Amino acid sequence: MTQHNEPAGFDGPWWRHPSMRNALITGALASIAFGLAHLGSIDRQTEIVLYLVAIPVGGWYWMREAITKLIAEREIGIDLLMVAATAGSGALGLWGEAAFLVFLYGAAEGLEEYTYARTRYAIRTLLDLAPKEAHLMHEGRETVVPADTLRPGDRFLVRPGESIPTDGIVMAGASSVDESPVTGESNPVDKQPGMKVFAASINHQGALEVETTASYQDNTLAKIIHLVEQAQDSKGRAQQWIDRFGRRYSPLVLTASALLFLVPWALGQPLTDWSLRAVVLLVAAAPCALIMSMPVAMAAGIGAAGRHGILIKGGAHLEHLGRIRVVAFDKTGTLTLGRPSVTDIVAIHGSDNELLALAAALEQFSEHPLARALTNRIKKERITLPSIQEFEALPGSGAKGIVDGTGWYIGNPNLFRRLGTDLSSVQSRIDSLQEHGRTVVLVGNQAQIRGLVAFQDHIRPNAEAVVAQLRSMGIDIVMLTGDNLRNARAVGRILGIDMVRAELKPEQKVRAVRELQLRQGAVLMVGDGINDAPALAAATCGMAMGAAGTDAAIEAADVALMSDDIMRIGDVLRHARSVRRISTQNIVFSLLVLVTLIPLALSGALSVAAAVLVHEVSELFAVANGLRTGFGTHFR
Ligand code: ADP
Ligand code: MG
Repeated sequence: MTQHNEPAGFDGPWWRHPSMRNALITGALASIAFGLAHLGSIDRQTEIVLYLVAIPVGGWYWMREAITKLIAEREIGIDLLMVAATAGSGALGLWGEAAFLVFLYGAAEGLEEYTYARTRYAIRTLLDLAPKEAHLMHEGRETVVPADTLRPGDRFLVRPGESIPTDGIVMAGASSVDESPVTGESNPVDKQPGMKVFAASINHQGALEVETTASYQDNTLAKIIHLVEQAQDSKGRAQQWIDRFGRRYSPLVLTASALLFLVPWALGQPLTDWSLRAVVLLVAAAPCALIMSMPVAMAAGIGAAGRHGILIKGGAHLEHLGRIRVVAFDKTGTLTLGRPSVTDIVAIHGSDNELLALAAALEQFSEHPLARALTNRIKKERITLPSIQEFEALPGSGAKGIVDGTGWYIGNPNLFRRLGTDLSSVQSRIDSLQEHGRTVVLVGNQAQIRGLVAFQDHIRPNAEAVVAQLRSMGIDIVMLTGDNLRNARAVGRILGIDMVRAELKPEQKVRAVRELQLRQGAVLMVGDGINDAPALAAATCGMAMGAAGTDAAIEAADVALMSDDIMRIGDVLRHARSVRRISTQNIVFSLLVLVTLIPLALSGALSVAAAVLVHEVSELFAVANGLRTGFGTHFR
């Protein structure tokens, strides 16, 4: 049995796969020998000679591998059991059975290697969606160049109906673009100058002029494909356990079979009967289907998710996703759109515009959604920004810096409580704005409060639906947020989440996740990937949303949703559960086969031919069942 340590790429039709081709030749030769002998056209000796030719052909790959593994790694694998069974059958004069064993085992092996290789490389078909040529724009002239010669900074043109060759930023034109190859999201996205576009997206009605940001080899699509392939190679705990089991169990079978032959021999019992049972045991007890029970299901499952814009970065993460009990959501940017707008400006000293200018100056280098809201507001009001020195982000609280020679802070009320600022003059304003579900941010320092700014974010479409869906799957839902409790409760009420933990700093989110794990089991943390990185890492599984275009988010998470379609969370959890179910079915089924066949083999009720047939059919069944996870039926 192949252990799939290294990927084997194979492009041809199934019957040209080397192990399969050889097995088929063996099958043909053995059938001819068997047929002619039964018609009486050849004698027994010629028949045996034909079998003797057929066996090394069919065993060419796996027999050599079995022997190399034994000598070089001192490992007894299933293939060695089959070598022993072939030799044993021959020694008993059952050359026909030996040849058919080599044929069926080789064919099952070949088919399994072939499907595994196809499963692993199915994700490559995404690459075919990116065009091989690009319309390079240089000094006002257009030339057609191979897409892989584009370098960051090059400009290219995309006409209506064409696909985009590589990642870039729109410089001119407007259009809508289908980004489904990268994000799995089939609703077109409107694009304007300044926005990112991804390789393999399909441009709809308008022409776009795009500046390249990543070459063909390392654009987002290439990265996805690479990560999926890496993930398919990495095994989860259950799979590692099965591999270890297989390594210890096969020598046991070989020993048992040897004893079955040696003990009666030492006791002077009739040999043929017991040695026949020894050979049957070798075949019947080989755990082929068991070893096969997970790899195909996992690789096909990871591949199917990848084709739908969901990166699962390893077999272990897919296993974890399959047993999630609690989903912990970050609020800002996850349950809400993370695109808040400024609703209230309350200046205590000076004018509203002075307050806005100071707030925006403090936030100009910040990546936080609230900072972006302030910057947008400033642009509308056409206010010029004072400059800032010594900017510092205070994750989960706010930011600080020096403006016009004075040190200022911007951030939530708790930040100012810790600073010791007197908030009595603004407390009632803060309370009433928070009652209305707004996020209140203060601007000031230890000595004074300059004013406050309130923001309103919008709940993500479908957030309510996904909460209901997860709940119907028996999953508990928790909101973990750095925002204030009143606002968090307001959002929770709308979405139907009653477990709300607010005013958490990043490290407190980590503690909250750990507590959930202790009390309830496997926790999926869903966040925006950057300021939630510690909590994502602490959870059983960490998922980043809207990860396309932000490498940091792809890196921080175990699972990355390329799109920001929150409904995908339910889909991927159902998918993972089904992968888990199918793997379990395979494991139970293959154990049942072993438990049934072994006593039959020992009792002498099973012939070599029957053992071979049942054994190979059960292996093929496990492979076929595992392949079902590749259909991705849980993704809409
Ligand atoms: P969430 O957990 O909801 O994603 P964060 O942990 O990013 O929120 O921030 C928690 C709170 O800290 C915000 O609601 C805001 O009040 C304050 N805050 C954080 N960063 C900033 C910032 N750059 N400017 C202003 N306020 C901030
Ligand atoms: Mg957030």
